[in-house]
Amino acid sequence: MTRAIEELIPDYLRGLPVYQPGRPIEEVEQELKIRAIKLASNENPLGPSPKAMEAVKKALGESHRYPDGGTHRLREKLANIHGVESQEIFMGLGSSEIIDVVARVLLGPGKSGLTAEGSYAPFSVAIRASGAKLVRVPLRNWTFDLPAMAEAVTRETRLVYLANPNNPTGTAFGMKELEDFLGRLTEDVVVALDEAYLHYAEREDMPRSVELFRARKNLLILRTFSKVYGLAGLRVGYGIGQAGLLAVMNKLRTPFNITSVGQAAAFAALDDHEHMQRSITTNCAERKRLFEQLRELGLQPVRSEANFIFLTVGPEAKQLCEELLQHGVIVRPLGWMGFPEAIRISVGSAEENDRLVAVMARVWPGRAVKREIG
Ligand code: PLP
Repeated sequence: MTRAIEELIPDYLRGLPVYQPGRPIEEVEQELKIRAIKLASNENPLGPSPKAMEAVKKALGESHRYPDGGTHRLREKLANIHGVESQEIFMGLGSSEIIDVVARVLLGPGKSGLTAEGSYAPFSVAIRASGAKLVRVPLRNWTFDLPAMAEAVTRETRLVYLANPNNPTGTAFGMKELEDFLGRLTEDVVVALDEAYLHYAEREDMPRSVELFRARKNLLILRTFSKVYGLAGLRVGYGIGQAGLLAVMNKLRTPFNITSVGQAAAFAALDDHEHMQRSITTNCAERKRLFEQLRELGLQPVRSEANFIFLTVGPEAKQLCEELLQHGVIVRPLGWMGFPEAIRISVGSAEENDRLVAVMARVWPGRAVKREIG
């Protein structure tokens, strides 16, 4: 970049971290010349819903037409499911776009956005990219410390990002904790509650967020079709929030942001209860099995409410991921998310999890012994 162009870039955009996605399977396979499995991006190992795939095939034939720019049918359907108005549904290019657009609407220089140190990195990026001040509160017991976050709210705070369950730790807070937190905020602070992994949570007192939204309008609930619905590649997410806020967000999003194929797939996936239920039960069973097997290897996984498991493994976390990769198993080192000593493993299919455990059993004990001696 030339100096003149560099000087055009506002200070608050310089040095923003790059989002680091999990490595694509094809790339690793080509490099190492072995079959690889990817347990790095919290995808659905069962694949997309068959009903969604059928709908995609039909929609492809209309690809020469622009999609419905207002995503009316899908919003209507989601509104019915959640018992809200369709103007209270915002469609995003994945929930990623919603994380970004809401910050552009509510934040800017002189304001401040709040999240946790150790939560989903794009929250912090969105706050910083708006020119607002980023305030981060440390996690407590690997989860959001909501009382401390309430203390950290100031007059400049306009937006708070929470992920429940949290990525990358997989922990969740309950209804009462969220209600107490919301009760301590004034109405000019919007809470973006990212529930990408909600369906996987087993905790019985998970917040009934839509009920809270109906009672308290300063919640913006974020949901995605990328996880339990298995449509990560089609990029569809939605928000449930106050109509006035969503109307402004709609002005900022890209026109026609949701492709016709994405709209058709999401619409059909909502009717595939069997696929969703199977995705949830498989994940719960495999998560439990993987958790126990990792423990048997002497590792210390954190109990997860999501479709991934967080492990603190020590200063050689990155090296461990590299060794797993050499055996064709892609997992995620978490230095870039603020945990240089931890890794995150997505819960895969039974076969994938068996392979991860087998490779870990070869790679980890040596390291554990070395650590004790060293
Ligand atoms: N929010 C959280 C907490 C996530 O972990 C992810 C993806 O991993 C996203 C949002 C983004 O999801 P999407 O594919 O809907 O953009």
